[in-house]
Amino acid sequence: MPSSTNRRRLLALLWPGGLTLFLASLIKVYPAQVEKVGPFVYPALCLLVLFGSLLCWRLNRTRLLFALLLLFLTDRTLYWTGGTDNGSITIALLSFALPLNLCLFSLLRETGLFAIGGLLRMTWLGLLGAAGTWVISERKQTFQDLVARDWIPLTIQPADLSDPALVTIILTALILFLRFWKQPTPQNGGLLAVLFLSCAGLFSLGGIPATTWFALGALTLVLATVESFHALAYRDELTNLPGRRAMQESLEKLGGHYTIAMVDIDFFKRCNDKYGHDVGDQVLKMVSKVLENVTGGGKAFRYGGEEFAVLFSRRTLEETVPHLETLRERIAETGFQLRHWSRPPRKPKGAKKKSRDPRLLKVTVSIGAAQRGKGEKPGVVLKRADQNLYKAKKGGRNQVKA
Ligand code: GH3
Ligand code: MG
Ligand code: MG
Repeated sequence: MPSSTNRRRLLALLWPGGLTLFLASLIKVYPAQVEKVGPFVYPALCLLVLFGSLLCWRLNRTRLLFALLLLFLTDRTLYWTGGTDNGSITIALLSFALPLNLCLFSLLRETGLFAIGGLLRMTWLGLLGAAGTWVISERKQTFQDLVARDWIPLTIQPADLSDPALVTIILTALILFLRFWKQPTPQNGGLLAVLFLSCAGLFSLGGIPATTWFALGALTLVLATVESFHALAYRDELTNLPGRRAMQESLEKLGGHYTIAMVDIDFFKRCNDKYGHDVGDQVLKMVSKVLENVTGGGKAFRYGGEEFAVLFSRRTLEETVPHLETLRERIAETGFQLRHWSRPPRKPKGAKKKSRDPRLLKVTVSIGAAQRGKGEKPGVVLKRADQNLYKAKKGGRNQVKA
């Protein structure tokens, strides 16, 4: 069974990119029905780009915004030039420029739309459009010669896909995948799916019109923006655990039978004072990683500061205490390795384990738990869990009190 982190990674990939890929497969299964909605695809693309751009602008998600604009520009360039004999040079040009720019925009830092970075990106898009129009209208022989050269002997390669474009697409897919692997966010998952959808659009994969593929790409980006808005509202940025708002809503949804545990790091202020705020933040992340993988059906939240809560739905106090003890032990065993400038990023092969590392910071937590009594409101149960946490602190810390 994958750990909850891996499950999240998988979910971030499936949603929202997976949903649009599923819609694309429906088009293949029900072509007749889809033909009926054909005339609405372009207006839908325009609406998605308009709505998505507004959303991205308000949420400062310029990576997604520029990806949306890129999709729209690509669709229009294909449409305007597709009917002429310039079609193949257009595809050769776009299949090179589109992945390259997707890669570029995904690597650049987020910036305000009207900040210097945003204005530069808009100028870049404008220049790109102008350069593309010039190449296509003049049909520059040098460009055609360059892209027509067969460097890679690949027989399944579509006729219009030049070797430089193929290399760019593969490299971009690799970079986007690595980014997604490192940071499994909906944006990164969405951008990866958009690369596939836009390449499918360029070559009208499966006989599906290009605009339909681009509309699906735009839908992916809009869904990714909505999902990132959700994360902004419900997830704690530092620890990536669901935050207090998510906890309040979970509490309202809980049935009549549950247990709440409050977890608090011991002497955390001392840790901040001695090693600095940055080390304190790393300790919070380390503790969150352990809490995230709590057993016994618990769900962890960052309650605030160095306090966390774990909700056990449909569990009695008796059932949860062994899991809370395991949690406490795991945190105490893990400790936190303070980095020294001379310490290599990876442990060298064959290095012996030291019996006691002076730079291993011992981190412990105290836990207070309470089970819902008949007719009790969540706030009352939370208060009792907090009182038990206070008892655990008074009793010497690094312990569970229920
Ligand atoms: P106790 O064992 O009684 O819980 O003592 P404590 O020092 O852990 O508790 P106290 O409430 O005195 O200190 C909590 C500290 O947590 C104070 C605050 O500066 C720190 N803190 C809160 N949020 C953050 C954060 O996001 N990052 C860092 N580095 N520190 C934080
Ligand atoms: Mg504390
Ligand atoms: Mg505290």
